[in-house]
Order: sequence, then C-alpha cells, then structure tokens
Amino acid sequence: MPELPEVETISRDLRQRIVGHTIERAEVLWERQIAYPSAFEFQELIPQRRIEDTGRRAKYVVIQLSDNATMLVHLKMTGQLLYVPAGEPANPYTRVLFHLDRGMQLRFVDVRKFGRVYLVEADQLQSFPKIAQLGPEPLESTFTADALRALIQRRTGRLKPLLMNQGFLAGMGNIYVDEALFISALHPLRPTTSLKPRDVVRLHGAIQQVLQESIANRGSSIDDYRDPAGQKGYHHVYLRVYNRAGEPCIICGSPISKIVVGGRGTHFCPTCQRLPRRTRAGAG
Ligand SMILES: [Zn+2]
Repeated sequence: MPELPEVETISRDLRQRIVGHTIERAEVLWERQIAYPSAFEFQELIPQRRIEDTGRRAKYVVIQLSDNATMLVHLKMTGQLLYVPAGEPANPYTRVLFHLDRGMQLRFVDVRKFGRVYLVEADQLQSFPKIAQLGPEPLESTFTADALRALIQRRTGRLKPLLMNQGFLAGMGNIYVDEALFISALHPLRPTTSLKPRDVVRLHGAIQQVLQESIANRGSSIDDYRDPAGQKGYHHVYLRVYNRAGEPCIICGSPISKIVVGGRGTHFCPTCQRLPRRTRAGAG
C-alpha cells in the first residue's frame, strides 16, 4: 500500500502536471469507488472545475478544485493516479476517468478496487470525518520529539500497532514503521510505557529519516505503486529490514526475523531490537 513517501511523490508530480488543467468531465466506471457523495452527484459536480493545487494529508492525495471543492483520493492497496494523453488505450482496471482540457486525462486505476475518492467542500475539509480523525503529520515542524513523547505518554500498547494507527500519527504504514523501529533499535512489540525519553528521541529522528530518504528516492515499489507517469520508485532497494526476512542484518549480520503483529508481517533484527528483559514475558 502506498504510504506517506509514495503519496507525497504522487502529489508533487501531479502538481507539476495537472495544476491549471480544467476537468471537463468525470466518467465513473466503477461506482463504489466514489465514496462521497454518490457517483451520480460526483459526475454532476465535477465538470468545468479548474485544478488549483495538489497536496497530501496522511495517505490521501488532496486535489484542490475551483469553486470551493476538494477531491481526496485514497489509493489503498493498488490504486494509481496516471496522467496520460486521452488517446492512450485505457488499462482495463481504470475506475474513474477525468477528461482534462488540452487532450489529457487523469486516470484512477485500481486492480483491487479498495481505493476511494471523495469530493467535499473545501471549507469543510478539516471537519470531514476521514480528515478530522487523523493524527499529526510526521514531517511538519510542529512534530518534535517532545510532541511525540507527549502523544506516547497518553497511550498504552505496543509500538508497531500504535505507529500504524492513523489517528495517532498520519501516513506511516507497514514498510516505514518497520524501518523506523529498526533504525531506532526498538522492538515492534515494545510496550510504550517502557520507553525512556532517549528512546523517543531516537524514534522521532528515525521516523523523519526513513520518510525523507524514501521521498528523495521517489518511494518504494514493492507491489503496485507507480508515479503519475507509470514509473516505479526506487527506495525499495535501500530498505533495511522490510521484506528481508532471513537475510543478514546490515548492522550485526543476524538473520532478519518476520513475525505477525496486528495481522501484518513485521520485520526486525532480533539482536539489534531487543525487548527490555522485564517486558519479555508479556510479549506476543
Ligand atoms: Zn542486527
């Protein structure tokens, strides 16, 4: 699933390409992917709106349209937003076609159909439930180590599920949580209550490091992630633990372990990321 670095890459690329275009009309080919309003209303509301800006919030691509409208696109497992000439043959998994002016199209392609598109009034965006429930953005200047410590102090539970929770922190998913925990030498099942202030400082730095590195490398194409030109990112070749079960740890040489945490495959080094002794009995 695209996470913060992949969605950020898509949003930045789209800004270069689609801003200034007018959407002449939208053609919904799979109605259930329009989550709000109805597919019928969506097609009625979109025509002749100009694309004014693109951005990102958590794992949502945010597309600002003229006349107080904001479109949100969540790519979920396999969604892609492709910017292509109108004459190019459509991929059979195209779910929504945006006919742009000047002979171009923005295509929402999604093999597994879990992706969702929303159209909301721009001045109501912050109170729209999908947005209102999100935690802070990890790359914003207000997200300091002290801010992370204050958030963690209000929570119990184990680190990996907490960092995956979009209401706690926005934008991280399975890849970058595993990577950040490895860099900060914290076990995925570490109880939040056992963290020392220095652990939180390390974790905070690691979160920002893995996200910034991946954005610089245009994201990780483990599965279906592609940028708006249909190209892969190249950060996956630099991943330290994710998808490397059984391969040697880049620091100590121990084989990387894979366990299941909250239903998700979780990769870590059993030597570099030890649980503190007194918490081990409750691990699992
Ligand atoms: Zn190691």
